[in-house]
Amino acid sequence: MTPDLECLNLVKKFGATTAVDNVSFDVPPGSFFSILGPSGCGKTTIMRMIAGFLDPSSGDIKIRDRSVLNTPPNKRPVNMVFQHLALFPMMTIAENIGYGLRRNGLPKPEIARKVDEALERIGLPGIGNRKVDELSGGQKQRVAIARCMVLEPDVLLLDEPLGALDLKLRERMKVELKALQAAFDTTFVYITHDQSEALVMSDQIAVMNHGRFEQIGTGRELYYRPDSAFVAGFVGDSNRWAGEITRVDGDGLEIRTDSGLLLRGASHGRVLSVGEKAQIFVRPEAIRIAHDAGELDHFDNRMTGRVTSLLFNGAASRIIVQDPEGREEIEVNLPQSGEFAGLARGAEVQIGWSGAQGNCFAAGGH
Ligand code: ATP
Repeated sequence: MTPDLECLNLVKKFGATTAVDNVSFDVPPGSFFSILGPSGCGKTTIMRMIAGFLDPSSGDIKIRDRSVLNTPPNKRPVNMVFQHLALFPMMTIAENIGYGLRRNGLPKPEIARKVDEALERIGLPGIGNRKVDELSGGQKQRVAIARCMVLEPDVLLLDEPLGALDLKLRERMKVELKALQAAFDTTFVYITHDQSEALVMSDQIAVMNHGRFEQIGTGRELYYRPDSAFVAGFVGDSNRWAGEITRVDGDGLEIRTDSGLLLRGASHGRVLSVGEKAQIFVRPEAIRIAHDAGELDHFDNRMTGRVTSLLFNGAASRIIVQDPEGREEIEVNLPQSGEFAGLARGAEVQIGWSGAQGNCFAAGGH
């Protein structure tokens, strides 16, 4: 199937700065593709090139198999939703949604029909005559999307559209945006520095760092099989230790951390050698906690520790466990069973995890 959007070897230089460094990806029709990365990594620069506000230094951008490099922004079959929605406050909701259609010279009855249809789709039928400031933040967000969608773009670009919303609304809008994308069956390209937004909504995520894509994959692939230390550290929470590899046997290995712990880990196909500096990442939920060491016999990493902090957060509660010599603080998910409900600071606990859950990477990068 022809992708809706293809970026081929995109490069953008600003003087001596390479903001986008040879990025290639394609987005299948009707899918939700996110570019996730820290501030300044080059996300917005990619979006601006796709929208036509910036010319690439080299590379190509194709929409439905046609290069758009020589097409001006207003003629490209893309639309962009920004963080600040910029609805027109003096217009009604219907006038806002119909704005682009009026500019395109569509007859009035057709505009009215399309606006009504869009209001249905965003779940706000019958509010066309209201003013912008009569809507909640979430409703305004949906109207802003409807305003773009009535123009029927091949690709909708969204630049951190939830950034200005409060936390609660942002959580709800993640679910709504995903539903809207499915309802309009349009390709979304979404940029964010918030990994949970990307994980919840996307079919595919590209993790970006210093102008380059580190990895493209589903949320699950990035979370469970990160290709680089950057992805392992950026997507989800991890305990992270640096050290030196002391043994390698097949996929398994042993690492002595700089603090002196001896841990078992896994290379998951990466080539790592004894004596090499490395980093190991272990998710808090991969670590089991028990009162009795015997329960953890089947794990190749085990230790007795002392609870130094309890971080109550409902179902996502965690504890921090310190190893006996006080060298490391290890973050562990607290099981949902009531058995550990009475756990107090200073309590002694046993923790253990499987070496296969310890993702190892060479210290320098990949
Ligand atoms: P944020 O999440 O903070 O918006 P970003 O990932 O979108 O960041 P970009 O805005 O694409 O990052 O910027 C990437 C790099 O390019 C940065 O180092 C930035 O300073 C630089 N840059 C962006 N636009 C220009 C410009 N017009 N002139 C010079 N440098 C620029």
